Amino acid sequence: MITAHEVQLVTRPDGAPRTTDFRVAEVRVPDPGPGQVLVRNTWLSIDPYIRLMLNDSKSAVFPPFALNGPIDGAAVGEVVAGDAVPVGATVTHFRGWREYSVLDAGDVRVLDVDGVPPQAHLSVFGTTGLTAYAVLTDVTPVRPGDTVFISAAAGAVGSVAGQLARKLGAARVIGSAGGPAKVRTLVEDLGYDVGIDYRADDLARALADAAPDGLDLYVDHVGGDQLDAALTVLKPRGRVALVGAITGYNEATPTLSTRNLFAAVEKELTLRGMQVTSYFDRLPEYVELASPWLRDGSFRVPETVLEGIHAVPEAFVGVLGGANTGKMLVRL
Ligand code: NAP
Repeated sequence: MITAHEVQLVTRPDGAPRTTDFRVAEVRVPDPGPGQVLVRNTWLSIDPYIRLMLNDSKSAVFPPFALNGPIDGAAVGEVVAGDAVPVGATVTHFRGWREYSVLDAGDVRVLDVDGVPPQAHLSVFGTTGLTAYAVLTDVTPVRPGDTVFISAAAGAVGSVAGQLARKLGAARVIGSAGGPAKVRTLVEDLGYDVGIDYRADDLARALADAAPDGLDLYVDHVGGDQLDAALTVLKPRGRVALVGAITGYNEATPTLSTRNLFAAVEKELTLRGMQVTSYFDRLPEYVELASPWLRDGSFRVPETVLEGIHAVPEAFVGVLGGANTGKMLVRL
């Protein structure tokens, strides 16, 4: 038995979370039993959906974490003990936000880290990249020649989605992000044709200027004003993937906050929600498709990395507030 740190929920946030809503506690880590593994976590994934699980909600998709209990997020680590998976194997699992995890062998996935940094399995080759792939190939497939708009475009999913939309045939890819530095990154590093600063620009006007013939597809990560602007600029029979609604995550009941949904009636739009968990079986096909792009450098994978378990609360508050470019990660 060893002692190690884990992140626990102390207070359910009322509105935007603060670092003091969490504690980093020292706990005893049990030895792995038969069929189990002990994993020393090396990378933790910091994701906005965790905010939904801090509420005392009845959601079956985002069930609440217990007060004074640990938070579980995705992680990558190394097997250090147990009889079920070879010691030394690099694995991923969903019992992170702690230094060590004891897991049933069925709850870890052994990773091939040959030529790929292990943390890529939390970003471009993890649920982040898979979300973008599922959206653009199944939920609202991108078609050759499409004009595509993506919000939270400099974030984890958005940075993959913009590049993937282009690879899959989009003619024009427009992204929005908060602040001039991120907007520059969109255009200079991530292959977007146009970057819109949603905080500074007149959003609907900037979007109409960027897509003078209208939008074919909007990948919505935020809801609110950006969804309203996209609904205005979408072409008749345009498509919207409802992927996230971060503008509403700090409310007791998350909402898309749109005032303009009647545009969907007028223009016969298709709006389709998604959960990446429905697409886990498509991860291998996506990794096979994207691997050559990663190897030849044509696919950029930006990361924002904080160090050590004590940085997790700051990283989490940061990802909700836009402190990240690309994937928000904590390295242990
Ligand atoms: P992310 O984009 O890396 O980080 C969140 C970003 O949201 C921040 O960096 C910030 O960027 C932006 N943001 C925060 N508050 C905002 C606001 N009020 N208005 C506009 N933008 C705001 O996170 P991610 O992991 O890639 O996730 C992006 C979205 O997709 C989230 O809504 C997430 O819940 C959703 N998602 C859904 C699924 C699914 O299965 N449905 C899977 C993965 C992710 P700026 O600096 O640009 O504001």
